[in-house]
Amino acid sequence: MQSVLRGLMPEKLVDVCLAETGLVADRLAGEVRADERKRLRFWLKNIPFQVTGYRGFKEAIITCGGVSLKEIDPRTMASKCCPGLYLAGELLDLQADTGGYNLQAAFSTGWLAGRSAAKYCNE
Ligand SMILES: Cc1cc2nc3c(=O)[nH]c(=O)nc-3n(C[C@H](O)[C@H](O)[C@H](O)COP(=O)(O)OP(=O)(O)OC[C@H]3O[C@@H](n4cnc5c(N)ncnc54)[C@H](O)[C@@H]3O)c2cc1C
Repeated sequence: MQSVLRGLMPEKLVDVCLAETGLVADRLAGEVRADERKRLRFWLKNIPFQVTGYRGFKEAIITCGGVSLKEIDPRTMASKCCPGLYLAGELLDLQADTGGYNLQAAFSTGWLAGRSAAKYCNE
């Protein structure tokens, strides 16, 4: 079970899971009984976490807040409040799930804002 659980959850949680569900670490996954599987499912869906703090701005993955999207023209990323100002990425009040979406948002809005700003300068 231990190796199967490692594929399901962070390493540090495996021992906690085994202790709290009573599953035997070296039991083959195929030998786990229906009631044990049920206990594991219940635990996975109901494990309580108490948030005790966060690790500070230096380690932050995304920031919350920024310029409201209502103030931005999405076709150019231009500020509606300040002509000639173009915004992108973390400057925007836009958050996405981790796993690439924040980077994609930064790349896409950055590309658009850069092109639009260049066009603005040339006109
Ligand atoms: C540890 C970590 C892990 C992450 N993992 C993911 C992930 O898995 N998936 C995902 O989608 N996103 C992830 N992100 C978020 C993602 O990196 C950001 O959303 C994205 O990089 C934002 O791009 P940005 O260009 O807006 O800002 P930034 O990448 O922060 O770029 C801003 C740049 O401006 C420069 N700068 C700041 N002030 C000045 C100044 N006064 N003059 C000149 N330059 C200045 C900075 O040095 C920096 O180079 C992660 C972020 C962190 C910190």
